Amino acid sequence: MKSLKEIYKTMARKNETLFAMNFYNLETLQGLLKAAASKKRSIILQVSPSSLEYMGAKVIGPLAKSAAEEFNVNVWLHLDHAKKLETVETALENGFDSIMIDGSELDVEDNINLTKEAVALASWKNVPVEAELGYVAKLGETQEPGKGFTNPEEAKRFVSETGVDALAIAIGTAHGFYKETPKLDFELLRKIREIIPNTVLVLHGSSGLPDNDLIEAINSGINKINVATEFKDAFMTSLKKGICNSDEIDIRKIFPEAIENVCGIAEHKLDLLER
Ligand SMILES: [Zn+2]
Repeated sequence: MKSLKEIYKTMARKNETLFAMNFYNLETLQGLLKAAASKKRSIILQVSPSSLEYMGAKVIGPLAKSAAEEFNVNVWLHLDHAKKLETVETALENGFDSIMIDGSELDVEDNINLTKEAVALASWKNVPVEAELGYVAKLGETQEPGKGFTNPEEAKRFVSETGVDALAIAIGTAHGFYKETPKLDFELLRKIREIIPNTVLVLHGSSGLPDNDLIEAINSGINKINVATEFKDAFMTSLKKGICNSDEIDIRKIFPEAIENVCGIAEHKLDLLER
């Protein structure tokens, strides 16, 4: 199996796209892997620093990799939104295949410096680094139109100064669900694609985006699409229904429906790559 570092080298030029899906426990992980297996697709499995803490850094690597083997699926394990180098080091020590350092809340120079340090750390393990330039609204925040969007010239400088493999860009998406369908700036995406033709471009905040927007993003140069909130929501909605409607105490009988629900959404996303 090729390393993600190697895959990233040609993805942009080949216009390839991978889905990066967050898991939170064994059951959400099973839902994602089941979908990847049924659609015969490789996926990036990712966890946030809070999930790293929740499941334990030593558990996550072996858990994700042995589960992927069980389902016979190619996966890479990615650390999503690390804010501290310490978290990056923990992930690297525990077998992660890829990391993100998120300095998007810092000013550009500080973001560049932090990212450079993460790139230096990751290079020891030949692990690719994703950074964020521009600002994708965090959970609970609203993305204001045009505000914090990625500047193409700045993106070019950022990539050449830091040496990142992948760049999360802000073109109108936000983390969490949307109250109103956001208007994405595909023109800006295409400009960024043109100016940094070899860098993997990442779309965060893809939960709840209409399929057509995801397809246009794929066709305009996005190489990695992150989905998290939709899986969390699907899992919990199903679980709540299952628990409220029965007296079952065997947890193994309550979880499968929630796993199926996560799987269904993941399958639907993976189908978008066929178009
Ligand atoms: Zn994100």
